[in-house]
Amino acid sequence: MLADTTHVFTRRRRDIRLSVVEVGNNQGHALVFGDIGNDCLVRVHSRCLYGDALRSDDCDCGPELDASLDMIQAAGRGVLLYLEQEGRGAGLVGKARGYRVSQLEHLDTFSSYRKLGFSPDSRTYGEAARTLSALGLTSIRLLTNNPDKVGALESEGLRVQSVPLHILPPNRSVERYLAAKRQQRGHSLPENWRVHRLRYALAMATFAVIVIAMITGLSACAIDLANPGPPDTSVSGHAELLSTASGQTDTDINMVGAQFTWSPQKTRVLSPANSHASVDDGRTTVLVAIAAAAAAIGLAAGYCGSRASRRVLTRIRLLRSNSLL
Ligand SMILES: [Zn+2]
Repeated sequence: MLADTTHVFTRRRRDIRLSVVEVGNNQGHALVFGDIGNDCLVRVHSRCLYGDALRSDDCDCGPELDASLDMIQAAGRGVLLYLEQEGRGAGLVGKARGYRVSQLEHLDTFSSYRKLGFSPDSRTYGEAARTLSALGLTSIRLLTNNPDKVGALESEGLRVQSVPLHILPPNRSVERYLAAKRQQRGHSLPENWRVHRLRYALAMATFAVIVIAMITGLSACAIDLANPGPPDTSVSGHAELLSTASGQTDTDINMVGAQFTWSPQKTRVLSPANSHASVDDGRTTVLVAIAAAAAAIGLAAGYCGSRASRRVLTRIRLLRSNSLL
């Protein structure tokens, strides 16, 4: 049932084979990535127009969907079940009414749903479970923090191992929404994000340091190649008077541990004989400037959560989900 929809899907410049099947009767779609098998990653995601498509700051749906796809792509296989259950089953108009009450009365959306007579969460997962079974899966690793979702799929006969999907809240609004999910629906989410922010900052700082070290090293090599410096600025062993032509203007060169007097016609060691010259031709200043620029770029990239650093974190998450870390 998959073959006639199979095609190559490209996201973030990475290709993966993708097939699509319907879930139930217009209840959503299953996107099957790569060659799936038992214990592959599965994300059961309910439609959120605001979060998924419009990138609203009011919920974590978009970042959760992104992180799930990052992990599925990194693993090379998995399933995304995208279910038509907008607004936790209340529909888009219901969700909009819920937001309005939340904003007017300073309530979280679960409370505002109750006030409007809606169920706080009326989503069902029976068809999703049957679709996964029809795809040949009996055991899955589910990308979720929602224990209700795990229980609903298990009650349909699937073996489910939950893989936490902790998205660092990008703002206070999402942080409040996640707190409401934890308090009102028992989602496995941290009570305090400070530790996670520190871990994230540490990961970003490590990435920035690696970038700085690489850029500084490459710059130093490039400068050395372009400007090899004086052919020979070191003296070892016993030096002797080569020429004493009078009337020459001597040039004093400060040495490390020694003082030399140099002119085209004479070289004289004043003290001690076994020394190396220290020549500052401006390279240090250039390197410091490049390192400072690299530091600024690296930290800015880290702060913004650049794609590269996100890929590194995705890899780490994947290794942890496989119990390799
Ligand atoms: Zn949302």
